[in-house]
Amino acid sequence: MSVDDVLVIGGGVVGLSIALELAESHLKVHVIDRGRVGQEASWAGAGMIPPGEIHFENESYRKMARLSSQMWPVLSDRIHELTGIDNEYRNCGAVIVTPSSSHREIEQQAWNDQGIQTEQLAASDCQKYQVEQSACEGKAYLLAGQSQARNPRHLNAMKFACLARGVKITEHQPVRSIETKAEKITAVVTDSARYQSSHVVIAAGAWSKEFEQSLHVSIPVSPIRGQIVLLKTVGQLKQIIEQKKRYLVPRRDGYVLIGATEEHVGFVRQNTASAVRNLIQFATELVPSLNEAEVEKCWVGFRPGSPDKLPILGRLEPWENGFIATAQYRAGLSLSPVTGRLMRQLILNETPEIELDDFSSSRFS
Ligand SMILES: Cc1cc2nc3c(=O)[nH]c(=O)nc-3n(C[C@H](O)[C@H](O)[C@H](O)COP(=O)(O)OP(=O)(O)OC[C@H]3O[C@@H](n4cnc5c(N)ncnc54)[C@H](O)[C@@H]3O)c2cc1C
Repeated sequence: MSVDDVLVIGGGVVGLSIALELAESHLKVHVIDRGRVGQEASWAGAGMIPPGEIHFENESYRKMARLSSQMWPVLSDRIHELTGIDNEYRNCGAVIVTPSSSHREIEQQAWNDQGIQTEQLAASDCQKYQVEQSACEGKAYLLAGQSQARNPRHLNAMKFACLARGVKITEHQPVRSIETKAEKITAVVTDSARYQSSHVVIAAGAWSKEFEQSLHVSIPVSPIRGQIVLLKTVGQLKQIIEQKKRYLVPRRDGYVLIGATEEHVGFVRQNTASAVRNLIQFATELVPSLNEAEVEKCWVGFRPGSPDKLPILGRLEPWENGFIATAQYRAGLSLSPVTGRLMRQLILNETPEIELDDFSSSRFS
């Protein structure tokens, strides 16, 4: 049996980003997924890539968000070159509508403190972004550095980029257990095979908790369901529009995603009438011209969330060759380039360029 250098459990955007980084460093990498890669949360997300982070005060987290956003254009070009697939990464900007003018001031200050430009919008400016004027009145600002990528295309590009760099991808094989001996992980077991690898990375998103028992560690990750409604429009929106945790994300061809709910309902894979109604109401109140749009479809995804909503990233103590990268919550896509890079540095025994102590899995034990 051939032994891989690194085996990654889970082929979402996190697992594939780690795999590509390691393969580009000439390691023999194997990704195993229980379904097709890139079909879960990473497919379902809205694809927003903010220029940084203001909602969590953790400094390492903020550094990760800023660095990751800077890595996106380079990564997008690289996977385009390897695969010919355009992930539709682009800097589109965002109109942010806050609950009050004092919230706006606080948020703008938090961005500006990190060197990220914002611009207050007058109610009359909002019209040119299609936003209802009364929603703006002193409460809206422009975040020009906001970008986006189109999730299904990005995931497709990541899969084929991995294959082009020699990553082995095994689909439709759920990992059932992980075997250990002394301080080491010795095998990863599916229904049809036992795989051996020098290093094992758990990147199974909202399902990562499944490995707690085999590994005798605490991985308190739970699914946070998000519902999205997709509209087909005449293309009137050019910028992302955000209000608290809800948003409108316009794609280049006129489709607009309305997202998203945050629900603690386990892995229940269904849209609900009340959520769909609320999302459409939110969208049409903010942008009345969307009343004429066609409803294309709805879907759900399961964000991986930890108790403190920060990622779990790093070595998986006490296992010498065990690693974990999960719980990126609402930011797993935007943080995926930096996550891949930091995990590569750790696995190659280099000092990660951003301090990862605050994301250690042992903070929950
Ligand atoms: C509605 C919604 C909107 C979002 N919007 C954004 C956004 O705008 N920007 C942003 O940055 N983030 C966003 N997110 C969050 C982001 O999508 C997630 O944080 C990210 O996709 C998590 O990636 P992942 O690879 O960890 O998980 P996933 O994509 O869920 O991948 C996990 C993989 O592990 C596999 N797996 C699970 N168990 C096993 C097993 N036992 N054996 C083998 N394989 C297994 C699964 O099949 C899956 O392919 C959003 C999420 C949702 C749901």
